[in-house]
Parts: sequence; C-alpha cells; structure tokens
Amino acid sequence: MSDLRERFEAAFMPNYGVPPLALARGEGCRVWDVDGREYLDLIAGIAVTSLGHGHPALVEAVSSQVATLAHTSNLFLHEPEVLLAERLLGLLNGDGGDGKVFLSNSGTEANECALKLAIKYGNGRGRKHSGRSYFVAAENGFHGRSMGALSLTGKAAIREPFGPYGIDVRFVPYGDAGALKAAVDENCAAVFLEPTQGEAGVVPPPDGYFAAARAICDATGALFVADEIQSAIGRTGAWFAFQHENAKPDVLTLAKGLGGGLPIGACVAFGPHGDLFAKGDHGSTFGGNPVSAAAALTVLTTIEKDGLLANAASVGETLADGIRAIDHPLLKGVRGRGLWRAAVLTGPHAPAVEAAARDAGFLINALAPDALRIAPPLILTAGQARSFTAALPAILDAAAPKTENSA
Ligand code: PLP
Repeated sequence: MSDLRERFEAAFMPNYGVPPLALARGEGCRVWDVDGREYLDLIAGIAVTSLGHGHPALVEAVSSQVATLAHTSNLFLHEPEVLLAERLLGLLNGDGGDGKVFLSNSGTEANECALKLAIKYGNGRGRKHSGRSYFVAAENGFHGRSMGALSLTGKAAIREPFGPYGIDVRFVPYGDAGALKAAVDENCAAVFLEPTQGEAGVVPPPDGYFAAARAICDATGALFVADEIQSAIGRTGAWFAFQHENAKPDVLTLAKGLGGGLPIGACVAFGPHGDLFAKGDHGSTFGGNPVSAAAALTVLTTIEKDGLLANAASVGETLADGIRAIDHPLLKGVRGRGLWRAAVLTGPHAPAVEAAARDAGFLINALAPDALRIAPPLILTAGQARSFTAALPAILDAAAPKTENSA
C-alpha cells in the first residue's frame, strides 16, 4: 500500500492529494484494499456504482459488448445507444417526456451540453440581441470542473481561482425561492439547480423549492435546467429527484449512477428544446459508446427488475433512523433522502470520523468539515445499513478530539 501511494504521488499531478487507500477489488457492497483488508463500501465511488461491484448482469453486458463492438464514434450509430436513449425517454414519459437525448462521458460534459443548449436558446437560434443573456445558479452549487460547468459552480473555492469567465452567471442563496424570483427576469436564459446540493454536503432545499423554480421559469421563459447528475437513477428512491415535487425541468442532466461504474452522462431536453442544436453544434468521440451504453441499459433494467428504487427508499430510512437514534456529542443529525445522506456533525470533525470509520471497516466521505456523505450502492441491505449504525458510536468516540486530561 505505502509503495503504491508513493508511486502515485510521484506520477500524478497533486490535484487529488494522495488517496488514503488503494483498492484492489470489490463484490456487492464490499471492497478489499491491496493489503486484503475488507470494507463496507458506503460511498460507491461518489454515488456511482449503483449495482455494487462485480454485479453479474453488468459484467455480462460489458464483457459481451466489448467483445462484440467497443467503439463506433458518432460517425456510425449503434443499437445500445438507441435502446438507452429510448429507455431513458420511456422512464421520463410518465412525466410527459417528449425529449431528445445527448450522451456524454461524464456529468461535466452533460452540463456543458445543457449550457450550450441554453446559450443557443438565449441567442434566439442565432438571432442577435435576443436579450436572454445571463444565467442563474445557486451559491455553493456544483456542476463540474470544465470552464463552462465551472462558471455555473457556486462553490467559490472551486470557481474563483480560474475566473473570470466569459459568461454572466448570477448566484442566489440555495433554497430561497424569493431570491430566485428576484434574480430571474425575461433576460435570463436559464436557471441551473440541483434538486439537493450534493457536493455542498447533501443539502436539501425547503419543500416546494424545486416546484417554485419551475414556476419562476414558466413565468419568465427562462429554461429550467435540473442537474440530476448525483441525484437521479434511484439514489433518492425515485428514478429522478424532480419527481418528488413533480417539477419537470426543460433540460435534465444525468451521469454517475447511470453507468454503474462505466463512464456515461446524458443531457435530455424536452419539447422544442430537444431540437435546439443544429447538425454540427455539439459532439463527442466517446460519448454514448457501445460499452457504456450497454452498461447503462443493464443498470436501468436491474434497478427495475430488482426493485432497487423501493430498496433505496426503505434502506435509506433504516440508515437515517439508525443515525438519528444515536446520542453522541459529535453527532448533530442526518439529512437527505433515500440512499443519499449526510451525517451532520457538531463541529469540523468529518475528516477524523472518515478516518475512524475506515479503521473500523466502513468507507464514507468527509465532504464538508461537518458533514459525512453516505451514498452506498442501491443494493445495500438493511442489515448492512444497521452494521454501520451499530458501529458509528464507537467510530465517533475514536474520532473525538482528545482533551488534555484524557489518556
Ligand atoms: N453535477 C453534480 C451535481 C455533481 O455532483 C457532479 C459531480 O460530483 C458533477 C456535476 C460533475 O460530474 P463529473 O464528475 O462526472 O464530471
């Protein structure tokens, strides 16, 4: 392990630091490090490995697709991408889905697609001075690291070192419908929002916020773009988090859990917005490649076949109830929905708790100084959730700052 970490440090740019563990393999919700130590994976590669590790259906779909046809580029179409786009639209049909899909490799690229669509919309399909010249996004939001997605990202520490950006983005406090209303007028091209802010610490807005955002966009004609890159594909117990408030966006972006570990993202635009791009306006060599598309199709099929939406909802409650029941000076509470939770701490103890959890055999993520993200595979069992909440008091004890008098 230490040898690999040293070699990592020598070979890689320092943007990630050196991760604390080198993982070697996984099975279901369990992973093993290179020294053979076992962990319960409660973070799933940042809300990605929705079916867990080594799921037989995913292994079969990916292996047989890579053996048949791994890549075509967008010069040629292939069946898995068509099936996937149709399947996604089918899932959205219950919400009046009349969409069109663009497939990318990542969440950031799905948002770049949404941003370019919104710019095209704001430009009035090429007419100059149509007036829709600015964007609204939320303080503390996260939409990705490329220059377009970064310009929409409200987390100042991530955005500011790389500005200024040639795009007018106005940030409003997340969850404040009045502030959103005041910021959006007929000159706004689009509003970009997460249904719950993931990277900010799994922070849900007050009830009704997403529906209010939908209404504000309806009243002004701004595009409503829902960034569901972290929240969709079952994570909250619904296919899409916007369904909890029935606040269907004009443009929806997806990634993470969609591929179950294979890199794929999607941008879906509804109604006339699905036809905003003209031929040549956008593209990707790898986006929607046959292997990732086959993986995503398998993820969707398995979630449906194995009832994983209901599992995420019910095991998510077991997890949250277990955390809520703990009375510990370091623990303040729990927030989030489904299998997408933050254990909220009373102070900046998250890195210490993450390390103590790892020592106890559980992988969780200190995503804010006072918040730990828990986003396990959607196949997590209630027993596995309970094994973590049973261990949590001792983990918190181990992470507690030592007082001068303690031994
Ligand atoms: N949008 C949201 C809400 C995210 O949580 C993330 C990643 O964490 C992204 C966009 C960027 O996705 P990716 O890292 O796949 O480019």
